[in-house]
Amino acid sequence: MGVVWCWRMTAAAPNQPILPLARPVTALAGVGPERAAQLARLEIRTIEDLLLHRPRRYEDRRQLRPIRQLELGEAVTTRGAVVALGVKWYAKHTKSIFELILDDGTARLHCRWWNLPYMEKYFAVGDEVIVFGKPAGLKPRTMDHPETEVLEDGEEDFIHFNRLTPIYPLTEGLPQRWLRSLVWRALGRFEEQIPEPWRALNLAGGATNLPARARAIHMLHFPETLAEPELARRRLALDEFVELQQRIQRRRRNFEAKARALPCRGDNHLIKPFLARLGFKLTEAQTRVLRELRHDLSGPRPMRRLLQGDVGSGKTVVAACCALMALESGYSVALMAPTEVLAEQHFRNFTDWLEPLGVALELQTGSRKTGEGGSQKSEVRSQKPEVRRQAEASGIQNSESSRAQPPTLTLGTHALIEAGFALGNLGLVIIDEQHRFGVAQREDLVRKGQYPHLLVMTATPIPRTLGLTVYGELDVSVIDELPPGRGRINTFVRAADKLPQVWAFIRERLAEGRQAYVVYPRVEETGPNGVKAVTKEFENLQQTLAPFHVGVLHGRLRPKEKEEAMSAFRVRDTQVLLATSLIEVGVDVPNATIMLVENAELFGLAQLHQLRGRIGRGAHDSYCILVAAAKSKEAHTRLRVLEETTDGFRIAEADLKLRGPGDLLGQQQSGMPRFRFGDLAADLQLIQQARQLAAELPEEAKTTH
Ligand code: ADP
Ligand code: MG
Repeated sequence: MGVVWCWRMTAAAPNQPILPLARPVTALAGVGPERAAQLARLEIRTIEDLLLHRPRRYEDRRQLRPIRQLELGEAVTTRGAVVALGVKWYAKHTKSIFELILDDGTARLHCRWWNLPYMEKYFAVGDEVIVFGKPAGLKPRTMDHPETEVLEDGEEDFIHFNRLTPIYPLTEGLPQRWLRSLVWRALGRFEEQIPEPWRALNLAGGATNLPARARAIHMLHFPETLAEPELARRRLALDEFVELQQRIQRRRRNFEAKARALPCRGDNHLIKPFLARLGFKLTEAQTRVLRELRHDLSGPRPMRRLLQGDVGSGKTVVAACCALMALESGYSVALMAPTEVLAEQHFRNFTDWLEPLGVALELQTGSRKTGEGGSQKSEVRSQKPEVRRQAEASGIQNSESSRAQPPTLTLGTHALIEAGFALGNLGLVIIDEQHRFGVAQREDLVRKGQYPHLLVMTATPIPRTLGLTVYGELDVSVIDELPPGRGRINTFVRAADKLPQVWAFIRERLAEGRQAYVVYPRVEETGPNGVKAVTKEFENLQQTLAPFHVGVLHGRLRPKEKEEAMSAFRVRDTQVLLATSLIEVGVDVPNATIMLVENAELFGLAQLHQLRGRIGRGAHDSYCILVAAAKSKEAHTRLRVLEETTDGFRIAEADLKLRGPGDLLGQQQSGMPRFRFGDLAADLQLIQQARQLAAELPEEAKTTH
């Protein structure tokens, strides 16, 4: 069995007594079924959940800005007494404005809300109201849709006023003030009982210089200085990271204790002739990585390795060598790619490379399956189909009888992980463009064998934080060098009104014999704001570029049509390939030197970098033109990162900061740990610290927590 990932931050063992903090929120006075249901919508079910409910911001209510001193466009907190309020209806009573006028003795402030007439019932003349918002006008002073809170004279006022006040994420029907009081009371009652985890590590103070957990939780809600919330966040994030690291390390230990590796180091009888006929020399980086892989394949434990290399760095050849090592050792290999186009391209490449060496190859995709008469097999393979089927039917793995069959390299898509499809004698699993797969799919393939070696490849550089967390159980190899003789890639960001010049430029390159990709974000309907769709724009483009021929490629085509589009482009029957981001992964046509992406603002930077990786594969200079439809300055600034650098690592870091980890992780996010406090874009230092701390935990703490 492979390692199954299961992220859950708090999983109580079945027989443990319920700790105070694990009790449901209904144990608190004032929380009935209705409130509990509202809290549940915020994922607050236990008292601990409540104590970890993170304020989204804080208001400094110690010194409020007088209304007279409000400035245009500057978000501030102020207060005043209600002097008038009312709803005005217009457009035949279908639209409304609710207006609330406050006075603090220095000036008046008009607060306005559109189409929320029921707000009227929350206020009365004479109420003292705190408002937070941006003044939209100064004559008269107005704020549109500010956040408000009515101050109630009473003994609880000290919780809500005259302090740094937490403002929580809410849900419909749940008042800010009520929630804040609840947190205050829960803290009062349970603060002393908040356990200090990892006591052995002495996290409070000591090495980390962070507050104790109980103290941190207090600071999180009711800080005394503006610096305290961040201090609290760091402590709580550290706890999350230590727990995660502990889990990663435990899983790793279990794996190492259980799994014995298949000997797959090979004897060079295939690799030698393969490299000799390849037509180029491996780069130093490729050679170094191969040494690392061979080391793993001959080690005592199954390889679990992530191979990271920028687009075009030559991961496929490395994968081929790795496959040959296993094949030389008598084991079969499976390589899974995310799209049929890519699986077929690999099949073609690997067949060219390996068939002459007598290696048996198979292709297994959704449209081509073994046993349905449609499977593609190499010569060697098809000579003995009945033997092969027997081995598959028996499902025997690594037994003598299946070892007797020639080891096979099976390439394919998700079809490889279908339940009915058996892979006998599996020694090595390779996953290309792993970010397109979920962790579960990866494990499904690994489970087709008995602890086969695993190599996952990605062109998306993994920032360190993700490498230590989400990918924590993989070793990492990096190809940090591109093969020589590549033309330059020039990248330009252009506004949509420059398109005519762009087309003229592209026609010149086409006339010189080069080819181009044109990428639109959508398949069929052109979307709002002119977001372009492939099928809709096809005829336009054909006209713009005549007499050159344009082909079309997108995910809704039948597999056969996709393959035809690719091969027409490969043999230059079409000079331009109009596509969706489907071509982002893996496609390799060295004569294509232009990549035009329209509506580029809709793509992540890492994804655009992948698209750009389709060009610059031959000796000619290449051009990547990113056309941003939006007038948005922000979009242009973001895209500029690609103009400035081709360093995939920097681009991935920028993406992580700008868009969060989801984009970089792709499918993986389904298996990603969710942090309340940890920030994968910023917390490298804490993560490293947590890793070390987890390793220092004494043995009993490791198993009981
Ligand atoms: P990626 O890492 O993006 O998967 P590929 O494996 O598709 O890149 O390699 C890109 C191109 O570079 C292919 O055409 C491949 O044959 C070629 N290539 C790989 N390694 C070398 C090398 N050492 N020297 C020259 N060309 C190479
Ligand atoms: Mg590739």
